[in-house]
Amino acid sequence: MILDKEHLRANLDEVIWNIEEARISVSEHHIVQLVAVGKYTEVENIVTLYKLGQRAFGENQVQQLKARMAALEELPLEWHMIGRLQKNKINNLIDLRPSLMQSLDSLSLAEELNKKLDAKEAKMNCLLQINSAREETKSGVTPEEAQDIYLQIKESCPNITLKGVMTIGAHTDDTKLIQQSFETTQSIYEKLEKEGATVCSMGMSSDYALAIKCGSNLIRVGSALFR
Ligand SMILES: *Cc1c(COP(=O)(O)O)cnc(C)c1O
Repeated sequence: MILDKEHLRANLDEVIWNIEEARISVSEHHIVQLVAVGKYTEVENIVTLYKLGQRAFGENQVQQLKARMAALEELPLEWHMIGRLQKNKINNLIDLRPSLMQSLDSLSLAEELNKKLDAKEAKMNCLLQINSAREETKSGVTPEEAQDIYLQIKESCPNITLKGVMTIGAHTDDTKLIQQSFETTQSIYEKLEKEGATVCSMGMSSDYALAIKCGSNLIRVGSALFR
């Protein structure tokens, strides 16, 4: 459905207000980036949100990312890849040159990506995805191995610039469990700050305020903006 500008403005204002409230409760100096996730919405709504001031957008499929980057190439947008990357789509993603690939979910994917980046003489900014709630349906490395794998990628994949970590909160109504999954990721992030990590991506429409209070500095919000 194509949403009118005032409708989108109200949604965006509400999200920004909630971000402000949550981040100020952490610290006035705690800055949070909003990435608008357009995967369920029409490209027209992305244009409208851009006109309202939003610059960073995310997609979870390489094909859709490619189509939207092409459709909107006139606009100075920042694009994030946030979904599972199949190995046969790696070259397509490299050619798109996303600002940030948030869903690097295994060492073997990192090695494959690094090899293909090498062949194209390209680099890519990435986040290591952590399966902080240990859900079988979710990808990502386990919390226990996250730090080791992060360091290993840093050492053996020179074409990948690791910027930090990403997680999806526990899929449950139990706020305590969601909070736990964010705190798990946050404590890993804090250790990795010594290794230069600057991005802790956690929080979606249903849990971004909680994620920010747990230290997130990048949230990925779809339905709360485009409903
Ligand atoms: C879809 C998606 C989001 C946004 O989800 P909403 O609940 O619509 O805000 C965030 N992160 C990832 C990885 C997603 O796939």
